[in-house]
Amino acid sequence: MANLDTIAAVATPPGLGGVGIVRVSGPRVSAIAQAITGALPSPRTATYRVFRDAENGFIDEGIALYFPGPRSFTGEDVLELQGHGGPVVMDLLLERCLGLGARLAHPGEFTERAFLNGKLDLVQAEAVADLIESSTALGVRLAGRTLQGEFSRRIQALVESLIQLRIFIESALDFPEEEIDFLADSSVAEDLDRAIAMTRRVLEEAHRGQVLREGLVVVIAGAPNVGKSSLLNALSDTDAAIVTPIPGTTRDLLRQDIQIDGLPIRVVDTAGLRATEDPVEREGVRRARKQLDDADLVLLVYDAQSGPDPSIAETLPSGIPVVRIRNKIDLLDESPGILQNDSEVEISLSVATAQGLDLLHAHLKHHAGLDAGHEGIFIARRRHLDALNRGLQHLLEAQHNLEGQLGPELVAEELLLAQKMLGEITGEVTSEDLLGRIFSSFCIGK
Ligand code: GDP
Ligand code: ZN
Repeated sequence: MANLDTIAAVATPPGLGGVGIVRVSGPRVSAIAQAITGALPSPRTATYRVFRDAENGFIDEGIALYFPGPRSFTGEDVLELQGHGGPVVMDLLLERCLGLGARLAHPGEFTERAFLNGKLDLVQAEAVADLIESSTALGVRLAGRTLQGEFSRRIQALVESLIQLRIFIESALDFPEEEIDFLADSSVAEDLDRAIAMTRRVLEEAHRGQVLREGLVVVIAGAPNVGKSSLLNALSDTDAAIVTPIPGTTRDLLRQDIQIDGLPIRVVDTAGLRATEDPVEREGVRRARKQLDDADLVLLVYDAQSGPDPSIAETLPSGIPVVRIRNKIDLLDESPGILQNDSEVEISLSVATAQGLDLLHAHLKHHAGLDAGHEGIFIARRRHLDALNRGLQHLLEAQHNLEGQLGPELVAEELLLAQKMLGEITGEVTSEDLLGRIFSSFCIGK
């Protein structure tokens, strides 16, 4: 895809710095390089030059780097002028490029061109932004894996297997008399099973990657005065939540973004879930209920002395895993512990003495899929999960059509739809709208 215009931007952050970089990409690059630096620098070679204005006056001196397309980040001709990192110097240099026919780049436009020119797929382009925005070292590592193609390779392998299967099925269409037998006798059902299992596995991996990107949303729920706010404080190590012995003090939601070994967690403390006449407190209860629906995990706190309040457990939405926190064991002189079976997890601890908090930390990491380390985890986004989920639905539909012997056309049709869904992830199938949304969140110069 050829872009007719040339874009330019200051690629380094605003303010003072040792080095500042102006980046230019597009067909006018060689003309711009010659005009500013006197002659076109040798490809991919750091070349010392004086950068000159239109009257041949001095703007700055520094290193010029010329990358002829397609062997460049964007796939087009690219010029990097590395000068002194002062805002006015950078402005003058950028102005000079604009005067020579470049236009100011939009946020993310260099990466968008890299995508449009096939240098990166969409997942990798998104990983560029995730890498830059990472707030933890773990985040950087996982975004790096996606950037290196770990996620894309999984999707490609999946797409490849769907294409093979579809070609095989479509060949049955050429032999109408034998088609039913053909499908029944062949390994189509097995191959389809395998593709479904593979999709589920990638979905699971992507889900872990998405949790690590966006953080686990953990809601603390329970009756008033059982120690919810104290638990939030203990997890976040601050006094953000007001802890008082008067029931019903937590009237609004409190949120804390914390990290456990690089795992980002958004902890939400809910108003004591109870019937109340106080309108402010009632609003708090209403919001608490709403947060519950978005949670990855609920910590249901109760007082070890009085036991769980069954009326609260009943109000929890179904389908969200619940960990029961049996708090205040210090008052019973008990030791901390964790009880776990297929459907339930209960941790006995004391927020006041911090005994057993390590069990909770370990369980949160386990829930995020981090207990076995981070090998093989890559960063992913909600949009990828949605596409994988929709792809899976089409595969299940294909299976249904195959089992019901509804004919090879209907099986092939669903396989094609599944393939399209997966193609949205890597950007083989895209809309302007989607691209706009993704790249507009980048910084300028990237
Ligand atoms: P919330 O209403 O559920 O948010 O409860 P709070 O966090 O405000 O705590 C209610 C009271 O219980 C406060 O006086 C806390 O100091 C106390 N508390 C919280 N956790 C413990 C604990 O593990 N042991 C003891 N002895 N007291 C606790
Ligand atoms: Zn509270």
